[in-house]
Amino acid sequence: MHWFATINFIATVLLVLLAVFIGLRSDRRKNISFILLLFAMANYSFGLAFESLSTGLSEAWFWSRVQYLTIPLLPSLLLLVVCRFTDVPIQRPLVKSMLIGCFAFSLLITLLHWSSPWHSLYYLDTQFTRVDRIAAVVFTPGLFYHLFDAFYYLIAATVLVLVARRAVLLQGLFRAQAVVIFVGIALPWVVALVEDYVLLPSRLDLLPMSFVPSALILGYGLLNWGLLGLDPIVMRTVFRAIPSGCIIVDRRRRLLEFNVAAARMFPRLEYLKTGQSIESIYQDMPGFGTVLDTLVESDQWQIWTPENRTHYRVQLTWLEQDQMHLGYLILIQDVTQQIIAETLLRERAELDGLTGVLNRSSFDEQLHQSVEANNLAGTSLALIFFDLDHFKALNDTQGHQAGDEVLKAVASSAYEQSRQGDRVARYGGEEFAIILPKTDEAGARVIAERLRKTIAENTPVTASMGVAVSDGHRPLSPQDLVHYADQALYQAKGSGRNRTEVASLTADTARPK
Ligand code: GH3
Ligand code: MG
Ligand code: MG
Repeated sequence: MHWFATINFIATVLLVLLAVFIGLRSDRRKNISFILLLFAMANYSFGLAFESLSTGLSEAWFWSRVQYLTIPLLPSLLLLVVCRFTDVPIQRPLVKSMLIGCFAFSLLITLLHWSSPWHSLYYLDTQFTRVDRIAAVVFTPGLFYHLFDAFYYLIAATVLVLVARRAVLLQGLFRAQAVVIFVGIALPWVVALVEDYVLLPSRLDLLPMSFVPSALILGYGLLNWGLLGLDPIVMRTVFRAIPSGCIIVDRRRRLLEFNVAAARMFPRLEYLKTGQSIESIYQDMPGFGTVLDTLVESDQWQIWTPENRTHYRVQLTWLEQDQMHLGYLILIQDVTQQIIAETLLRERAELDGLTGVLNRSSFDEQLHQSVEANNLAGTSLALIFFDLDHFKALNDTQGHQAGDEVLKAVASSAYEQSRQGDRVARYGGEEFAIILPKTDEAGARVIAERLRKTIAENTPVTASMGVAVSDGHRPLSPQDLVHYADQALYQAKGSGRNRTEVASLTADTARPK
């Protein structure tokens, strides 16, 4: 065996090994076009090795045909690889049809080559030669040979422009990667050019030999930085480690992928196969399906509270590739701690620190809302103001701390006696207010009296109560309500304390403007 065949056999083995290595080591589905390209190269050098060992024209022709099984595919496959690497949207109809056109042309060239003894479209004539024991079919190129040559160089120029553009656009390691890939692709084309225009007389096809360094450089470039190969593996690890539940489904909510956190929330996920509807997992967390149905736009989310104490943020994100809607990412985050903290903060801002009832500013806000709603509905709303009697004296004799305890006891009495919808607030110092929606004068008086008696019986102090009512006949503003309730309270104080007075809204007591 002569050196030329040996080198081509070695090239074949190396290319196959590289293809197998990439197939085992990386995401096969994503790199399939690169793996096919390597096999196509391997087949080329394999056929060439045997052609160079042939003893006659018919044998050499047979091996030439073997090479032409894949030679015409090389530019098309390379284009596909580079399109994927440079994120060309290959699903778009225009790009897709151009790629299909390339592969169709590849097939045409194979057919024309195989059938060339019966026409002169590809070769005008063919002969068997031997140079230094190296056998080869020599030929005079025909029309389609030149067309395929032009096609080869056109694709080469296209992919080099695509990669160069990426090198210009990107920076750092990504640019280095693009440059490496550029060199890997350019090498065989340089060899082909030199072969065609400089070494023309030698008749030895040196191209497959250049495939080995080219494939090694390409493989290094494509895989080492992980953009094509390791990327999915790394992404998978990241995906699995995300502490929030992630479920990926297709457009019809059939399972594609889920992570550990999701399986913890939905044990039924483990029993589902890829492609099965995820509907059965809804039983793991009742109401989940309903929440999902409310999310209609990408990245829309909703807080979901399946039980009282746990809160989840459920987000649905559209997964799109090449402008095609592939499915959804369902993201389920446990936000219980966050919600509790927010609720606490809000309560702290709204409630009085000592007594736990509403503070003055939320009272003002609440009164505004209640009055507005009440006046709109034409119902009656009552406001009770009450102030502890001689509280200063209690403070002075028993101390400030004892005074605080009394304030707490009074506030909780008021809170306990309030109905759902009523609002108890500390208006200031030892003065409190109760907003009573849908309550008329008689009702408010009963409630005020009951509370007054409770305070007198259960605490060391008494309270004076003032009541004002806004109703359909005489709707009052929040300020007027406060004014009249305060006035009634003042009256109660004036007429002996520990009593309830209701503001009479006759013309002469009307609030001076
Ligand atoms: P009146 O019957 O006229 O209402 O007499 P009073 O002593 O209750 O009224 P005054 O306005 O003279 O005194 C109110 C007292 O309430 C004075 C103040 O020290 C006390 N006070 C206000 N806020 C607090 C508090 O948060 N804790 C305690 N312990 N006392 C308070
Ligand atoms: Mg007082
Ligand atoms: Mg007071």
